[in-house]
Amino acid sequence: MSSLGNLTVLTGPSGVGKGTIVRKILESHSDVWLSISATTRQPRSGEIEGEHYFFLEKKIFQEIIDKDGFLEWASFSNNFYGTPKKIVNEKIEEGTNVLLEIELEGARQVRKSFPEAFQIFLAPPNLYELEKRIRGRGTETEEAIRDRLSIAEKELIAQKEFDAVVINEDIEKAFKEIEGFMGLNT
Ligand code: 5GP
Repeated sequence: MSSLGNLTVLTGPSGVGKGTIVRKILESHSDVWLSISATTRQPRSGEIEGEHYFFLEKKIFQEIIDKDGFLEWASFSNNFYGTPKKIVNEKIEEGTNVLLEIELEGARQVRKSFPEAFQIFLAPPNLYELEKRIRGRGTETEEAIRDRLSIAEKELIAQKEFDAVVINEDIEKAFKEIEGFMGLNT
């Protein structure tokens, strides 16, 4: 009898609210483990090493790629982002339910290497709303906002590839839907 943990991938454009949903899942379900990604981008104010990301130099990130240390990795808006492979595999093998919060290219890689993973796309009600949310967050420069919005337009087209699409119009409703897809309903 297998007692492997499930792997769930949550994708969606930058600013759509993935982080908020993930926080709510972790607060309500202590049996779900979130993979902490590595990134070459600079920490935002308030971000903590090892809690939000492992912030790495490009050279170190490349060394991990060369050693096949990422389950998936992608370049997003001039920075690299990747999911550490070993710890994720260990967690799944010990029966823990693992959650990845990653962008589209990474989700596509996981679909190939881990076809049994359940893939959820979180979509904004529309692009105008997404722009409002990214601007409201106040964490990006104007150039970065424009870049993220142009990536978002392309990402939205890909939602058909996913096992489930959840529209984040109402955060509580979106959270409940995602809980349901992850089999976490109490
Ligand atoms: P941010 O810079 O806003 O923290 O993240 C930018 C994008 O990278 C978001 O869509 C986020 O979900 C995604 N991301 C975060 N970690 C990873 C990762 O390990 N792999 C991939 N492919 N994308 C990631």
